[in-house]
Amino acid sequence: KDFRNNVKPNWCPGCGDFSVQAAIQRASANVGLEPENLAIVSGIGCSGRISGYINAYGFHGIHGRSLPIAQGVKMANRDLTVIASGGDGDGFAIGMGHTVHAIRRNIDVTYIVMDNQIYGLTKGQASPRSAEGFKTKSVPSGTVESAISPLEIAMAAGASFVAQSFSSNLKQLTAVIEAGLNHKGFSLINVFSPCVTFNKVNTYDWFKENIVDLDEIPDYDYTNRVMAMTKIMETNSMLTGIIYQNKEKKSYEDSLPLFAKEGLSKQDLKLSEADFSKLLTEFK
Ligand code: SF4
Repeated sequence: KDFRNNVKPNWCPGCGDFSVQAAIQRASANVGLEPENLAIVSGIGCSGRISGYINAYGFHGIHGRSLPIAQGVKMANRDLTVIASGGDGDGFAIGMGHTVHAIRRNIDVTYIVMDNQIYGLTKGQASPRSAEGFKTKSVPSGTVESAISPLEIAMAAGASFVAQSFSSNLKQLTAVIEAGLNHKGFSLINVFSPCVTFNKVNTYDWFKENIVDLDEIPDYDYTNRVMAMTKIMETNSMLTGIIYQNKEKKSYEDSLPLFAKEGLSKQDLKLSEADFSKLLTEFK
């Protein structure tokens, strides 16, 4: 079960994405997957390269569209474990529509967002996760837009699994990815993954000072939706750990009668050429 391949990542030394790669590889092995059972679909951005750096099926898609492709893969072959991944710009700007609807659909995909609060690949523009007042070369007087809270949005959209972690905490990051892979339904895992080259504000030290680790709050109950929402707001979305999980909510594929047993690629559609032509005519 070796999820390493021979491709050398071309991320900057110290980039948080290295830890996300390592955590996915460890978590996949820990839950008993084989490389041929795992598909990783990524978007565009530095983080989008991750699908080429792990020994599994990989699909490096287009900007903001990792989720439609990942959902298509899952619908076609439900035997595959499917991870979608990308950055905060990819998932929470151009891809936000897909993110919200995949969450409420509860399809069995694990979505790992490498959140560095900036656009790294295009050399440092403010992203939807940049705090108000954040200065970059593209907004030298500071961005005037508010930062999105993916945790609040996920909870409001009816998420069945919400977690957050930090590249510097490989143990916790691996554990939450394992939990996401084991969850039957959509899991959003937002990872604080510092961009050491362009973001000089949200550094490893800044995150260490500001993170609130749920592992250190003994009476926290991640099955309690109200408690999860309250803690997210109390901590300004800086929580790490499993924030919310609802194991009772049926996954999308388990809710579809024709899809319940097999994915589309394994179904006998039992459609003759004549039936198919009739169907096409009806749609004209
Ligand atoms: Fe990582 Fe930033 Fe370098 Fe991109 S530019 S590889 S996000 S450190």
